[in-house]
Amino acid sequence: MTTQRVIVTGAGIAGLAAALRLHRAGWDVLVLERAAERRSSGYLLNLHGPGYDAAERLGLLPALRAKDIGFFTSTLVHPDGREKFTIPAAVAQQAVGARALSLFRGDLETALYEAVSATVDLRFDTTVHSLEQDPDGVEVTLSDGSTERADLLIGADGVHSAIRALAFGPETDYLLDLEHMVAAFPLTDVSDHVAEGTGATFLGPRRTAAVMNLGPGRSSAFFTYRGYDTHARPALTTAFGDLGGGIAHALHQLPDDAYFDTVGQIVMDHWHHGRVVLLGDAAWCVTVFAGYGAALALHGADHLGATLTAHPGDLPAALTAWETALRPEVTKRQALARKGIARFAPPTTYHVQMSELMLRTIALPGIRHLVARAIRRANN
Ligand SMILES: Cc1cc2nc3c(=O)[nH]c(=O)nc-3n(C[C@H](O)[C@H](O)[C@H](O)COP(=O)(O)OP(=O)(O)OC[C@H]3O[C@@H](n4cnc5c(N)ncnc54)[C@H](O)[C@@H]3O)c2cc1C
Repeated sequence: MTTQRVIVTGAGIAGLAAALRLHRAGWDVLVLERAAERRSSGYLLNLHGPGYDAAERLGLLPALRAKDIGFFTSTLVHPDGREKFTIPAAVAQQAVGARALSLFRGDLETALYEAVSATVDLRFDTTVHSLEQDPDGVEVTLSDGSTERADLLIGADGVHSAIRALAFGPETDYLLDLEHMVAAFPLTDVSDHVAEGTGATFLGPRRTAAVMNLGPGRSSAFFTYRGYDTHARPALTTAFGDLGGGIAHALHQLPDDAYFDTVGQIVMDHWHHGRVVLLGDAAWCVTVFAGYGAALALHGADHLGATLTAHPGDLPAALTAWETALRPEVTKRQALARKGIARFAPPTTYHVQMSELMLRTIALPGIRHLVARAIRRANN
């Protein structure tokens, strides 16, 4: 049988995981990445459930365990930074169980990149300008004017996917706007208000701000609020400028390249069209409110490799089987994310008080394990 060729657009978590899995399945892989070079550490993410299992199957665990930040104590704080109450690390640990990792997004991407870079053709500073399909293949014209042909094109180019726009139509046809903004960035310096090894979180009506002080090269800030804005600095200053303590200190360090985006889900009733398939946020962005997009990207990529192998020479059957298997998990995570909005941005002061009451209750040693069991059931 001749070697099949795949073009993967996007060298993020979904794209690199697909490249790794399909290369192992015997495909010839070309990866195209719009950015001129690899990105920095970004923000903290958790991997558990099917995402952790996929990381294990992809052989990533040894590299990822070395970068695992582990669980840390969280402190809920007043607007001026004074402590309200503390949630011990053991609470989060019990809630997700032992098969879980807490990582910087960049560390996960690096582990994937190191696993594929020697074996696949990876071109930075390159995008797809147009694509055409025929019964035997898909042909793309690249930003440098050259053309490439393959048996399969994977659009793993994120929530604002260009491949989706080219093959399925404009973003607005699939976007479910959750009407919030999110910002996240690494911190080089953390205020003394936040003890090393802990995180400080302020929860207010329609907004959350958090600072994680996990030591040099591992500290980060996270902000989310209800609204719509295009420029991070003025927007975050308006939304959080009244806060003090470690959060004010973090806000002063906002870098120009901080992650800052709207929170919107991508909801599609099909993820493949002929020889083009979408993967990761491009297909089903569940948003930060699910805390599960990276996990789904790994799981989706791993499963795509498995179904393509199980249906040799029958691309439509493979892609249909892949979609059918994955859809229930994606639907569940999108629904959980929509419910999760109230947790990240409680609509009123009453909802803030209820959230805090729940967090205080969870932290009580006597009932911690019961709550943890309920959370694990809902999450897995
Ligand atoms: C603050 C925050 C916290 C999160 N926490 C968690 C968590 O705890 N657990 C979890 O599982 N998930 C979490 N997520 C979600 C997770 O980060 C994303 O779902 C995941 O990174 C999506 O990966 P992706 O590869 O599909 O897309 P992306 O990471 O967006 O990668 C897309 C890639 O494609 C490239 N690209 C874009 N356009 C083009 C183009 N036209 N041509 C070529 N290349 C292109 C981009 O440069 C990028 O490299 C979080 C997200 C945020 C914002």
